[in-house]
Amino acid sequence: MAIRNIRKDGDEVLRKISKEVDVINDKVVSLLEDMADTMYKAEGVGLAAPQIGILKRLIVIDVGEGLIELINPKIVSESGEQIEVEGCLSIPGVLGEVKRPAKVTVEALNSKGEKIVVEGEELLARALCHEIDHLNGILFKDKVIRFIDQDELEES
Ligand code: ZN
Repeated sequence: MAIRNIRKDGDEVLRKISKEVDVINDKVVSLLEDMADTMYKAEGVGLAAPQIGILKRLIVIDVGEGLIELINPKIVSESGEQIEVEGCLSIPGVLGEVKRPAKVTVEALNSKGEKIVVEGEELLARALCHEIDHLNGILFKDKVIRFIDQDELEES
């Protein structure tokens, strides 16, 4: 268990494509634990491995319904759309509206190497899309329709 340093926008690691995980060993399992610890400490709802400088296809998410750890996650279907405000632990202080599918289905492996299917709507759908984007070197700010300033958020 350890808190890792979260890489910030401008770090080139955030723009690289992460590699598939071939072997799920103790190292991968402890990496997922560190990612969860780091996410909870930073009070985020999701974290992808490149955000701690590791180019592996690993994400962790907790939208308040328990921890989800995904290895090699892949969106297999999506439907509808939603536009909501997002932020990112790697881009502190920046918020913006992003269009995402309303619902996504993701296939992945869990930390035991079992194939799992996660269906997400609303915040979970957004978090899945946002974190999987990180694995492809994409940041939410690339997709922002409208940036939101802090004052505006406090008023609403
Ligand atoms: Zn992010």
